[in-house]
Amino acid sequence: MTHLLILGGTTEANALAKAVAERGIPATYSYAGRVDSPRPQPVPVRVGGYGGADGLARYLHDHAITHVVDATHPFAAQMSRNAVSASREADVPLAALTRPQWEAQEGDRWQHVPDIDGALAALSGPARRVFLAVGRMHLVDFAAQPQHHYLLRLVDEPDALPLPNCDVVVARGPFAETDDRALMQHHGIELVVSKNAGGTGARAKLDAARALGIPVLMIDRPALPQRTELSSVAQILDWLAHSGVNLGV
Ligand code: NAP
Repeated sequence: MTHLLILGGTTEANALAKAVAERGIPATYSYAGRVDSPRPQPVPVRVGGYGGADGLARYLHDHAITHVVDATHPFAAQMSRNAVSASREADVPLAALTRPQWEAQEGDRWQHVPDIDGALAALSGPARRVFLAVGRMHLVDFAAQPQHHYLLRLVDEPDALPLPNCDVVVARGPFAETDDRALMQHHGIELVVSKNAGGTGARAKLDAARALGIPVLMIDRPALPQRTELSSVAQILDWLAHSGVNLGV
C-alpha cells in the first residue's frame, strides 16, 4: 500500500499535501519543527529530525514508506542530502519538488555570493541599513558585521537577538511588492541580503529593490547530489502515477 512521505516546510510542500489529500493518497507531512506554530496540513503531520540519514532510512523502513518527496527549501541542504542517501539505503524512490531559482532582470543590481560566508565578506565596510532576509537560523553569523543596522523579517517573535542594531518585523509570507517597497522605504534600506530561494512567496523584496534601485546581495544555492527534480505538483502526481500509485479522483 502507498505511503508517501513529504519532507516539507514550504509552500510547495503544502500544495502537494493538499493535492494528495484530495486524491486520497496516504501521506505523512514532515516538519523540522523550526517555527512555533506550523501550518496545519490535510494529511497526518510529524515534527522533528530523524537523527541523520541512517535515522531517516530506519523511519522509511519502519513506517513502510513507499515514496519520498523532498519538498524542503532549496537551502535545506542537509535534509536534502540525507533524503538522497536514506532513500537509496532503504530502496525507496525519491523525487524533489523544487522551484526554479530567481534570475536577475533588467534593472536588478545583484551581487552574487556563494554562501553565508561570502555574504559576510561582502558586508565588511562602513555601516549601512540592511534588509537581512535570511531567516532566523543564520542571524548569529551576521554578528560578525555588527556595524550595520539590520531590518529582520521573522516568522516568530524572537527571544533574543545576536545583532546589536536591528528592527524586527514578525510576518509570514507570501509578501506583496507594494508592501515590501513601503517597508524598505520606511526603514531607509540601502542593501538587501537574500538567499536565492526562488518561488513567488518571497520574491516581492527583489521586485521592490529593483523598483527602488537598491542593490541586492544574492546568496547562491548550495550544491546538492543528483536526484530526480520536478518543478510542479502535477509533475509529482505523474511521477507517482508512473510508479503505480492509484491517484483516485
Ligand atoms: P537543514 O539544515 O537541511 O536540516 C537540518 C536538520 O533538520 C536535518 O538534518 C533534519 O534533522 C532536520 N530537518 C530539516 N528539515 C526537516 C523536515 N522537513 N522534517 C524533519 N526534519 C527536518 O534544514 P534547514 O535549512 O534548517 O530548514 C529546516 C526546515 O525549514 C526545512 O523543512 C525547510 O523546508 C524549512 N525552511 C528552510 C528555509 C531555509 O532558508 N533554510 C526557509 C524556509 C523553510 P535530522 O538530521 O535529525 O533528520
